[in-house]
Amino acid sequence: MSRPPVVAIVGAPNVGKSTLVNRILRRRKAVVSETPGTTRDRTYQRAEWAGREFTLVDTGGMEPAAKVGLEALVTLQARIAAEEADVVVHLTDARLGVTEVDAAIARVLREASGEVVLAVNKLDDPADDSDRYRFYALGEGEPYGISAEHGLGVGDLLDEIVARLPEAGAGAEVRAPRIAIVGRPNVGKSTLLNRLLDAERAVVSEAAGTTTDAIETELVLGEERYVLLDTAGVGRRAKREAGVPYYAALRTYEAIRRSDVSLLLVDAREGVVGGDLQIAREIAEARRAFGVLVNKRDLVTPGRLREIEGQVAYRMTDLKPKLLGISALTGRGVDRVIPFAADLYRAFNLRLGTHEVAEFVSSVVGRSAPPGGVKIRYATQTGQAPPVFTLFATRPADIPESYVRYLENAFRERYDLHGVSLGIRLKSSR
Ligand code: GDP
Ligand code: GDP
Repeated sequence: MSRPPVVAIVGAPNVGKSTLVNRILRRRKAVVSETPGTTRDRTYQRAEWAGREFTLVDTGGMEPAAKVGLEALVTLQARIAAEEADVVVHLTDARLGVTEVDAAIARVLREASGEVVLAVNKLDDPADDSDRYRFYALGEGEPYGISAEHGLGVGDLLDEIVARLPEAGAGAEVRAPRIAIVGRPNVGKSTLLNRLLDAERAVVSEAAGTTTDAIETELVLGEERYVLLDTAGVGRRAKREAGVPYYAALRTYEAIRRSDVSLLLVDAREGVVGGDLQIAREIAEARRAFGVLVNKRDLVTPGRLREIEGQVAYRMTDLKPKLLGISALTGRGVDRVIPFAADLYRAFNLRLGTHEVAEFVSSVVGRSAPPGGVKIRYATQTGQAPPVFTLFATRPADIPESYVRYLENAFRERYDLHGVSLGIRLKSSR
């Protein structure tokens, strides 16, 4: 799963941003759809040009949480756009010429050093585009003359935008979630893997050509495909060195890196021990989705599971993972392992609309504001898998770590991100 590239349109009020957005969307009506989860968010829409899909953001619709002046507002929008977009279109008004606000936007975009396309709107007379040349002064390269209202020059502008989008690489294709099953020796990894692969509807095929001994097996359950990463040495070559601690550690490390979701198997009798914490740290460092499977529950009382829950809550505080009790030997709970991983995978790939993030953060800040009068003006999601949220604040350096934790936990609770490492980045809104 990978999100389409983002194109943001920034500019002073009334230069024609919404007119341009509507023009771009109207051209390809059939392929326009609202991004899921953002139905109320008019400013965040799917578009397509020349076979490339992208998300179009009209920053004119972004409302900062705190009141700011016009220039501050527009430069804040430019900063946000530069942060979350792959290409920023700086839209200007031919009738006004180069304004102070245009210069301020250009400054912000230059500092951010991303892809910027300059467009000069309201050139309604295709025979006379002399006004366009004045905009070279902004130092943003060739100004594209357009009339958003009449649709003139918009095709050329879109060609330029699409040419600047990042390559649609291998990541763009839909690929199966990759699940690593990791744990110390003898916790039951091979037993569990064999059970999963023996599941009635599972179609097993070995994925081709891995360079190392980390073995990948494709698992098809109904309509869904998964790739299981085997660290136990169930398959081929790995078996030979499975018991050698050095290779076992290396294989674990590799499987985590190659996974989207890492499931840590712990032994219910032993509880959470040092070796488990070590692996949990590796998963957190790799920023993968993380779940704990408590195995061998046939050997313990239900009370023991609650004890282990306590140990996990107390000792794995970073990601606050969820637990699932199973018995790989008897098969009890094993049918819930893949759905458990699939839920984690969904959380890992969470994608929230701009409006939704802004509203949520403003409600969290409303409940408890950062100390010292620091204002959080805007928030948006700037990364996915795992999710990253960027907050624009008046004095980001003055926001204490404890407050970042508070925000992180709020996201975790609200969007069920247990076991998902999420990023909170603070940026200056000035
Ligand atoms: P925004 O505030 O930047 O989103 O600007 P709007 O899209 O709301 O447009 C502001 C005004 O400019 C509206 O009255 C539009 O009709 C007008 N406008 C937009 N594009 C053009 C254009 O290409 N030519 C002319 N003459 N007017 C335009
Ligand atoms: P690995 O080293 O993590 O791959 O662990 P194995 O799958 O080889 O299991 C180690 C031992 O634990 C074997 O004797 C298994 O039969 C036993 N075992 C695995 N899962 C369970 C379980 O759920 N309950 C019980 N009672 N024994 C289990």
